[in-house]
Amino acid sequence: MIYLDHASTSRLYPEVASYIREHIETDFANPASAHSLGLAAEHSVKDALKQLAADLSCKPDELIVTSGATESINTALQTAVKKLHRRGRRIVTTAGDHEATLNAIKALKQEGFDTVYAKLLSNGSVDLDHLAGLLNEETIYLSVIAVNNETGACNDIEAIRTLRDKLAPRALLHVDYVQAWTRMPLNLRRSGVDFASFSGHKIHAPKGIGLLYVREKTPYAPLILGGGQQGGRRSGTEHPLFVSAMALASKIGTERMTDANSQVTDLRRILLDELGSIPYVINSPEDGVPHILNISFAPARGETMLHILAHRGIYVSTTSACSTAQNAKSHVLTAMGIGGERLDGTLRISLAAENTEADIRLAAAAIRQAYEQLAAIGGRR
Ligand code: PLP
Repeated sequence: MIYLDHASTSRLYPEVASYIREHIETDFANPASAHSLGLAAEHSVKDALKQLAADLSCKPDELIVTSGATESINTALQTAVKKLHRRGRRIVTTAGDHEATLNAIKALKQEGFDTVYAKLLSNGSVDLDHLAGLLNEETIYLSVIAVNNETGACNDIEAIRTLRDKLAPRALLHVDYVQAWTRMPLNLRRSGVDFASFSGHKIHAPKGIGLLYVREKTPYAPLILGGGQQGGRRSGTEHPLFVSAMALASKIGTERMTDANSQVTDLRRILLDELGSIPYVINSPEDGVPHILNISFAPARGETMLHILAHRGIYVSTTSACSTAQNAKSHVLTAMGIGGERLDGTLRISLAAENTEADIRLAAAAIRQAYEQLAAIGGRR
Protein backbone atom coordinates (compact mmCIF):
# COMPACT_ATOMS: atom_id res chain seq x y z
CA MET A 1 0.00 0.00 0.00
CA ILE A 2 1.21 3.50 -0.84
CA TYR A 3 -0.80 6.08 1.05
CA LEU A 4 -0.71 9.56 -0.49
CA ASP A 5 -3.89 11.02 1.03
CA HIS A 6 -2.52 12.63 4.17
CA ALA A 7 -4.62 15.78 3.82
CA SER A 8 -7.72 13.58 4.27
CA THR A 9 -6.37 11.81 7.29
CA SER A 10 -3.09 10.43 8.52
CA ARG A 11 -1.92 7.14 9.98
CA LEU A 12 -0.92 7.23 13.67
CA TYR A 13 2.77 7.88 14.27
CA PRO A 14 4.21 4.50 15.35
CA GLU A 15 5.10 6.11 18.71
CA VAL A 16 1.48 7.26 19.15
CA ALA A 17 0.14 3.82 18.22
CA SER A 18 2.45 2.14 20.78
CA TYR A 19 1.46 4.67 23.43
CA ILE A 20 -2.23 3.94 22.85
CA ARG A 21 -1.65 0.16 22.82
CA GLU A 22 0.29 0.36 26.08
CA HIS A 23 -2.32 2.44 27.91
CA ILE A 24 -5.73 1.59 26.46
CA GLU A 25 -6.57 -1.08 29.02
CA THR A 26 -5.20 0.72 32.05
CA ASP A 27 -5.94 4.42 31.46
CA PHE A 28 -9.72 4.25 31.45
CA ALA A 29 -10.61 6.38 34.47
CA ASN A 30 -12.89 9.38 34.26
CA PRO A 31 -10.86 12.55 34.91
CA ALA A 32 -13.82 13.95 36.85
CA SER A 33 -13.76 11.09 39.40
CA ALA A 34 -12.57 12.06 42.86
CA HIS A 35 -10.51 8.90 43.49
CA SER A 36 -6.83 8.48 42.74
CA LEU A 37 -7.39 6.94 39.31
CA GLY A 38 -9.54 9.91 38.36
CA LEU A 39 -6.93 12.35 39.65
CA ALA A 40 -4.24 10.59 37.63
CA ALA A 41 -6.44 10.91 34.51
CA GLU A 42 -7.04 14.59 35.27
CA HIS A 43 -3.29 15.14 35.61
CA SER A 44 -2.62 13.42 32.31
CA VAL A 45 -5.07 15.78 30.57
CA LYS A 46 -3.40 18.78 32.24
CA ASP A 47 0.06 17.61 31.18
CA ALA A 48 -1.12 17.03 27.63
CA LEU A 49 -2.67 20.51 27.45
CA LYS A 50 0.61 22.00 28.69
CA GLN A 51 2.46 20.26 25.86
CA LEU A 52 -0.12 21.34 23.27
CA ALA A 53 -0.04 24.93 24.54
CA ALA A 54 3.76 24.98 24.36
CA ASP A 55 3.69 23.76 20.75
CA LEU A 56 1.06 26.34 19.78
CA SER A 57 2.45 29.20 21.90
CA CYS A 58 -0.62 29.86 24.00
CA LYS A 59 -1.80 29.18 27.54
CA PRO A 60 -3.16 25.71 28.44
CA ASP A 61 -6.36 27.37 29.68
CA GLU A 62 -6.94 28.82 26.24
CA LEU A 63 -7.36 25.31 24.76
CA ILE A 64 -10.61 23.36 24.78
CA VAL A 65 -10.60 19.72 23.76
CA THR A 66 -13.27 18.92 21.16
CA SER A 67 -14.24 15.99 18.95
CA GLY A 68 -12.37 17.54 16.03
CA ALA A 69 -12.11 20.66 13.94
CA THR A 70 -15.71 20.54 12.69
CA GLU A 71 -16.95 20.91 16.26
CA SER A 72 -14.36 23.61 16.99
CA ILE A 73 -15.40 25.58 13.90
CA ASN A 74 -19.09 25.36 14.78
CA THR A 75 -18.46 26.31 18.41
CA ALA A 76 -16.52 29.45 17.47
CA LEU A 77 -19.15 30.54 14.95
CA GLN A 78 -22.07 29.94 17.32
CA THR A 79 -20.26 31.95 20.00
CA ALA A 80 -20.19 34.97 17.70
CA VAL A 81 -23.87 34.48 16.86
CA LYS A 82 -24.91 34.18 20.50
CA LYS A 83 -22.72 36.93 21.89
CA LEU A 84 -22.68 39.51 19.10
CA HIS A 85 -25.94 39.19 17.13
CA ARG A 86 -27.20 42.52 18.46
CA ARG A 87 -24.07 44.33 17.28
CA GLY A 88 -24.26 43.31 13.64
CA ARG A 89 -25.42 40.68 11.16
CA ARG A 90 -22.48 40.32 8.80
CA ILE A 91 -20.47 37.10 8.72
CA VAL A 92 -17.48 36.89 6.39
CA THR A 93 -15.47 33.93 5.18
CA THR A 94 -13.58 33.02 2.00
CA ALA A 95 -14.68 31.04 -1.04
CA GLY A 96 -11.85 28.59 -0.28
CA ASP A 97 -12.73 27.72 3.29
CA HIS A 98 -13.52 24.17 4.36
CA GLU A 99 -17.05 22.75 4.10
CA ALA A 100 -17.29 22.77 7.91
CA THR A 101 -17.08 26.57 7.84
CA LEU A 102 -19.04 27.10 4.64
CA ASN A 103 -21.98 24.91 5.61
CA ALA A 104 -22.15 26.23 9.19
CA ILE A 105 -22.25 29.78 7.81
CA LYS A 106 -24.71 28.86 5.06
CA ALA A 107 -27.18 27.68 7.72
CA LEU A 108 -27.05 31.15 9.28
CA LYS A 109 -28.18 32.83 6.06
CA GLN A 110 -31.59 31.25 6.62
CA GLU A 111 -31.66 32.92 10.03
CA GLY A 112 -31.22 36.33 8.44
CA PHE A 113 -27.47 36.79 8.75
CA ASP A 114 -25.71 38.63 5.96
CA THR A 115 -23.19 35.98 4.85
CA VAL A 116 -20.53 37.00 2.34
CA TYR A 117 -17.53 35.28 0.77
CA ALA A 118 -14.18 36.78 -0.21
CA LYS A 119 -12.95 35.69 -3.63
CA LEU A 120 -9.81 33.69 -4.23
CA LEU A 121 -6.94 34.75 -6.45
CA SER A 122 -5.89 32.33 -9.19
CA ASN A 123 -3.09 31.07 -6.88
CA GLY A 124 -5.70 29.88 -4.34
CA SER A 125 -5.12 32.44 -1.60
CA VAL A 126 -7.78 34.94 -0.61
CA ASP A 127 -8.04 38.20 -2.54
CA LEU A 128 -7.20 40.64 0.27
CA ASP A 129 -8.61 43.66 -1.60
CA HIS A 130 -11.94 41.92 -2.06
CA LEU A 131 -11.89 40.80 1.57
CA ALA A 132 -11.20 44.36 2.71
CA GLY A 133 -14.25 45.54 0.76
CA LEU A 134 -16.47 43.04 2.60
CA LEU A 135 -15.39 43.98 6.13
CA ASN A 136 -17.37 46.69 7.90
CA GLU A 137 -18.59 47.84 11.32
CA GLU A 138 -21.51 45.42 11.08
CA THR A 139 -19.21 42.41 10.78
CA ILE A 140 -19.32 40.12 13.81
CA TYR A 141 -17.32 37.16 12.54
CA LEU A 142 -14.52 36.50 10.10
CA SER A 143 -13.35 32.95 9.42
CA VAL A 144 -10.33 32.16 7.29
CA ILE A 145 -8.49 28.96 6.45
CA ALA A 146 -4.71 29.19 7.03
CA VAL A 147 -3.69 26.46 4.57
CA ASN A 148 -6.13 25.24 1.98
CA ASN A 149 -6.77 21.51 2.28
CA GLU A 150 -7.18 20.98 -1.47
CA THR A 151 -4.34 23.07 -2.90
CA GLY A 152 -1.97 23.84 -0.02
CA ALA A 153 -2.33 27.58 -0.73
CA CYS A 154 -1.53 29.71 2.33
CA ASN A 155 -3.33 32.81 3.56
CA ASP A 156 -1.49 35.68 5.20
CA ILE A 157 -3.13 35.58 8.63
CA GLU A 158 -1.22 38.62 9.89
CA ALA A 159 -2.46 40.75 6.98
CA ILE A 160 -6.00 39.47 7.53
CA ARG A 161 -5.82 40.24 11.24
CA THR A 162 -4.68 43.78 10.41
CA LEU A 163 -7.65 44.22 8.05
CA ARG A 164 -10.01 42.97 10.76
CA ASP A 165 -8.52 45.39 13.32
CA LYS A 166 -8.88 48.33 10.95
CA LEU A 167 -12.15 47.65 9.14
CA ALA A 168 -14.19 45.31 11.33
CA PRO A 169 -13.02 45.91 14.89
CA ARG A 170 -16.06 44.17 16.42
CA ALA A 171 -15.57 40.98 14.48
CA LEU A 172 -14.20 37.87 16.13
CA LEU A 173 -11.51 36.29 13.99
CA HIS A 174 -11.43 32.50 13.61
CA VAL A 175 -8.64 30.68 11.79
CA ASP A 176 -8.84 27.08 10.57
CA TYR A 177 -5.28 25.88 11.18
CA VAL A 178 -6.05 22.20 10.51
CA GLN A 179 -3.62 21.76 7.60
CA ALA A 180 -1.04 24.15 9.07
CA TRP A 181 -0.55 22.36 12.39
CA THR A 182 2.94 20.78 12.58
CA ARG A 183 3.62 21.96 9.01
CA MET A 184 4.57 25.52 9.91
CA PRO A 185 5.51 27.25 13.17
CA LEU A 186 2.40 28.63 14.86
CA ASN A 187 2.33 31.28 17.54
CA LEU A 188 -1.24 31.85 18.67
CA ARG A 189 -0.27 34.48 21.22
CA ARG A 190 1.32 36.67 18.57
CA SER A 191 -1.26 35.89 15.87
CA GLY A 192 -3.96 38.02 17.51
CA VAL A 193 -6.68 35.60 16.40
CA ASP A 194 -9.63 35.03 18.73
CA PHE A 195 -10.38 31.42 17.82
CA ALA A 196 -8.41 28.68 16.12
CA SER A 197 -9.39 25.14 15.16
CA PHE A 198 -7.23 22.01 15.06
CA SER A 199 -7.79 18.35 14.31
CA GLY A 200 -5.87 15.38 15.75
CA HIS A 201 -6.25 13.02 12.84
CA LYS A 202 -4.43 15.31 10.40
CA ILE A 203 -1.26 15.16 12.53
CA HIS A 204 -0.92 11.39 13.03
CA ALA A 205 -3.09 11.35 16.19
CA PRO A 206 -6.45 9.54 16.50
CA LYS A 207 -9.72 10.66 14.92
CA GLY A 208 -12.49 12.09 17.06
CA ILE A 209 -10.26 14.54 18.91
CA GLY A 210 -9.30 18.15 18.24
CA LEU A 211 -8.83 21.54 19.80
CA LEU A 212 -10.47 24.91 19.91
CA TYR A 213 -8.25 27.80 20.95
CA VAL A 214 -10.12 30.66 22.58
CA ARG A 215 -7.97 33.70 23.28
CA GLU A 216 -8.11 34.84 26.90
CA LYS A 217 -10.96 37.36 27.45
CA THR A 218 -12.60 36.54 24.10
CA PRO A 219 -16.36 36.12 24.58
CA TYR A 220 -17.31 32.46 24.60
CA ALA A 221 -20.53 30.44 24.63
CA PRO A 222 -20.36 26.63 24.85
CA LEU A 223 -22.03 24.66 22.10
CA ILE A 224 -22.32 21.46 24.13
CA LEU A 225 -23.92 21.66 27.54
CA GLY A 226 -24.00 18.93 30.15
CA GLY A 227 -21.89 17.89 33.12
CA GLY A 228 -19.74 21.02 33.07
CA GLN A 229 -16.45 19.37 32.09
CA GLN A 230 -13.57 21.60 30.96
CA GLY A 231 -14.82 24.38 33.20
CA GLY A 232 -18.23 24.24 31.54
CA ARG A 233 -16.73 25.24 28.21
CA ARG A 234 -17.33 21.86 26.58
CA SER A 235 -19.31 19.25 28.44
CA GLY A 236 -18.85 15.54 27.95
CA THR A 237 -16.33 13.17 29.51
CA GLU A 238 -12.86 13.82 28.11
CA HIS A 239 -10.83 11.00 26.57
CA PRO A 240 -7.55 11.37 28.54
CA LEU A 241 -5.71 8.76 26.48
CA PHE A 242 -6.56 10.44 23.17
CA VAL A 243 -5.74 13.90 24.56
CA SER A 244 -2.32 12.53 25.53
CA ALA A 245 -1.98 10.85 22.13
CA MET A 246 -2.74 14.16 20.40
CA ALA A 247 -0.17 15.92 22.59
CA LEU A 248 2.43 13.28 21.73
CA ALA A 249 1.70 13.65 17.99
CA SER A 250 1.94 17.43 18.32
CA LYS A 251 5.29 17.13 20.11
CA ILE A 252 6.71 14.72 17.52
CA GLY A 253 5.31 16.75 14.59
CA THR A 254 6.62 20.03 15.99
CA GLU A 255 10.08 18.63 16.72
CA ARG A 256 10.38 17.04 13.28
CA MET A 257 8.71 19.85 11.32
CA THR A 258 11.79 21.21 9.58
CA ASP A 259 13.15 17.80 8.60
CA ALA A 260 9.72 16.53 7.54
CA ASN A 261 9.09 19.59 5.38
CA SER A 262 12.40 19.19 3.60
CA GLN A 263 11.83 15.43 3.11
CA VAL A 264 8.35 16.08 1.72
CA THR A 265 9.69 18.85 -0.56
CA ASP A 266 12.21 16.36 -1.97
CA LEU A 267 9.53 13.70 -2.44
CA ARG A 268 7.29 16.17 -4.26
CA ARG A 269 10.15 17.10 -6.61
CA ILE A 270 10.92 13.42 -7.28
CA LEU A 271 7.26 12.76 -8.02
CA LEU A 272 7.08 15.59 -10.54
CA ASP A 273 10.38 14.56 -12.15
CA GLU A 274 9.24 10.95 -12.42
CA LEU A 275 5.99 11.91 -14.13
CA GLY A 276 8.23 12.51 -17.10
CA SER A 277 6.66 13.68 -20.29
CA ILE A 278 2.97 13.11 -19.56
CA PRO A 279 1.13 16.43 -19.70
CA TYR A 280 -0.10 17.90 -16.43
CA VAL A 281 -0.98 21.26 -14.93
CA ILE A 282 -0.20 22.02 -11.29
CA ASN A 283 -3.07 23.79 -9.55
CA SER A 284 -1.20 24.29 -6.26
CA PRO A 285 0.77 27.52 -5.92
CA GLU A 286 4.55 27.41 -5.79
CA ASP A 287 4.61 29.02 -2.36
CA GLY A 288 2.06 26.64 -0.82
CA VAL A 289 2.84 23.95 1.76
CA PRO A 290 4.89 21.11 0.24
CA HIS A 291 2.68 18.25 1.44
CA ILE A 292 -0.34 19.08 -0.75
CA LEU A 293 0.00 18.78 -4.52
CA ASN A 294 -3.09 19.49 -6.57
CA ILE A 295 -2.44 18.47 -10.14
CA SER A 296 -4.56 18.03 -13.24
CA PHE A 297 -4.06 15.27 -15.81
CA ALA A 298 -6.75 16.39 -18.26
CA PRO A 299 -8.19 15.01 -20.45
CA ALA A 300 -7.85 11.97 -18.16
CA ARG A 301 -10.50 12.18 -15.44
CA GLY A 302 -9.19 12.44 -11.89
CA GLU A 303 -11.87 10.12 -10.60
CA THR A 304 -10.96 7.38 -13.07
CA MET A 305 -7.26 7.81 -12.29
CA LEU A 306 -8.04 7.56 -8.58
CA HIS A 307 -9.79 4.21 -9.02
CA ILE A 308 -7.09 2.78 -11.29
CA LEU A 309 -4.46 3.80 -8.72
CA ALA A 310 -6.48 2.45 -5.78
CA HIS A 311 -6.73 -0.88 -7.62
CA ARG A 312 -2.92 -0.94 -7.49
CA GLY A 313 -2.82 -0.05 -3.80
CA ILE A 314 -2.00 3.64 -4.29
CA TYR A 315 -4.33 5.99 -2.45
CA VAL A 316 -4.89 9.61 -3.49
CA SER A 317 -8.02 11.77 -3.73
CA THR A 318 -9.65 14.09 -6.23
CA THR A 319 -10.87 16.79 -3.88
CA SER A 320 -11.47 17.01 -0.13
CA ALA A 321 -12.94 13.93 1.51
CA CYS A 322 -16.03 16.00 2.42
CA SER A 323 -16.70 17.05 -1.18
CA THR A 324 -16.22 13.46 -2.31
CA ALA A 325 -18.89 12.37 0.15
CA GLN A 326 -21.28 14.93 -1.35
CA ASN A 327 -20.22 14.09 -4.90
CA ALA A 328 -19.52 17.77 -5.51
CA LYS A 329 -16.97 19.42 -7.78
CA SER A 330 -14.22 21.26 -5.97
CA HIS A 331 -15.52 24.64 -4.79
CA VAL A 332 -11.90 25.67 -4.19
CA LEU A 333 -10.64 25.09 -7.72
CA THR A 334 -13.85 26.61 -9.11
CA ALA A 335 -13.22 29.74 -7.02
CA MET A 336 -9.69 29.88 -8.48
CA GLY A 337 -11.24 30.06 -11.94
CA ILE A 338 -10.45 26.44 -12.88
CA GLY A 339 -13.15 24.60 -14.80
CA GLY A 340 -13.87 22.10 -17.57
CA GLU A 341 -11.47 19.24 -18.23
CA ARG A 342 -8.78 20.72 -16.01
CA LEU A 343 -11.17 20.61 -13.04
CA ASP A 344 -12.38 17.09 -13.84
CA GLY A 345 -8.82 15.89 -14.37
CA THR A 346 -7.62 16.81 -10.89
CA LEU A 347 -5.90 14.65 -8.32
CA ARG A 348 -4.87 15.76 -4.84
CA ILE A 349 -1.72 13.95 -3.83
CA SER A 350 -0.83 14.62 -0.22
CA LEU A 351 2.44 13.46 1.23
CA ALA A 352 4.04 12.87 4.61
CA ALA A 353 7.55 12.16 5.78
CA GLU A 354 6.60 8.49 6.26
CA ASN A 355 6.42 8.12 2.44
CA THR A 356 9.60 6.75 0.94
CA GLU A 357 11.39 7.66 -2.26
CA ALA A 358 10.68 4.14 -3.55
CA ASP A 359 6.93 4.66 -2.87
CA ILE A 360 6.97 7.91 -4.79
CA ARG A 361 8.76 6.42 -7.79
CA LEU A 362 6.25 3.53 -7.89
CA ALA A 363 3.32 5.95 -7.55
CA ALA A 364 4.65 8.16 -10.36
CA ALA A 365 5.08 5.13 -12.64
CA ALA A 366 1.52 4.02 -11.85
CA ILE A 367 0.18 7.53 -12.58
CA ARG A 368 2.03 7.56 -15.91
CA GLN A 369 0.62 4.17 -16.84
CA ALA A 370 -2.91 5.14 -15.78
CA TYR A 371 -2.66 8.30 -17.84
CA GLU A 372 -1.39 6.46 -20.90
CA GLN A 373 -4.06 3.77 -20.52
CA LEU A 374 -6.77 6.47 -20.43
CA ALA A 375 -5.20 8.49 -23.23
CA ALA A 376 -5.29 5.37 -25.44
CA ILE A 377 -9.06 5.04 -24.97
CA GLY A 378 -9.83 8.74 -25.34
CA GLY A 379 -9.12 9.89 -21.79
CA ARG A 380 -12.66 10.67 -20.81
CA ARG A 381 -13.89 7.47 -19.21
N1 PLP B 1 -10.71 22.13 8.17
C1 PLP B 1 -9.85 21.61 7.28
C2 PLP B 1 -8.94 22.52 6.53
C3 PLP B 1 -9.81 20.24 7.07
O1 PLP B 1 -8.95 19.72 6.17
C4 PLP B 1 -10.69 19.41 7.82
C5 PLP B 1 -10.71 17.96 7.58
O2 PLP B 1 -11.28 17.47 6.63
C6 PLP B 1 -11.56 20.00 8.75
C7 PLP B 1 -11.54 21.36 8.89
C8 PLP B 1 -12.49 19.17 9.59
O3 PLP B 1 -11.75 18.46 10.54
P1 PLP B 1 -12.35 17.24 11.38
O4 PLP B 1 -12.31 16.04 10.47
O5 PLP B 1 -11.45 17.09 12.56
O6 PLP B 1 -13.73 17.59 11.80
